[in-house]
Amino acid sequence: MSDCLFCKIVAGDIPSSKVYEDESVYAFRDINPMAPVHILVIPKLHLESVNAVNTANSAVLSHIFEVIPQIAKSEGLENGYRVITNCGEDGCQSVKHLHFHLLGGKKLSESLD
Ligand code: AMP
Repeated sequence: MSDCLFCKIVAGDIPSSKVYEDESVYAFRDINPMAPVHILVIPKLHLESVNAVNTANSAVLSHIFEVIPQIAKSEGLENGYRVITNCGEDGCQSVKHLHFHLLGGKKLSESLD
């Protein structure tokens, strides 16, 4: 999508701190980190949110969850980490391109709200 921030990052039109890339997945450091390690893992395919996942495109989701442990290991998160996706208004999703926050590098808050 031409007006999507994360599509522009995937295309290289907006700079990012890339940590991983393959044919269908891109991962980069969050510009406003909430933890010592805060990486966004996204499908290259533009999907607005988890609500856009269906049987035709869901393979990229399983691939993302294959990639996340690899990134976590390479970032030294042996003691654990958190994966979050925000969806829609009440979920406080600010960028309308499906993304998974990978957070770690410290003992995270028990609160999820
Ligand atoms: P969400 O609120 O779940 O939609 O998360 C969007 C995330 O994108 C936020 O954590 C932002 O800090 C992050 N973000 C916004 N713009 C950029 C950017 N240009 N590069 C890296 N991260 C960004």
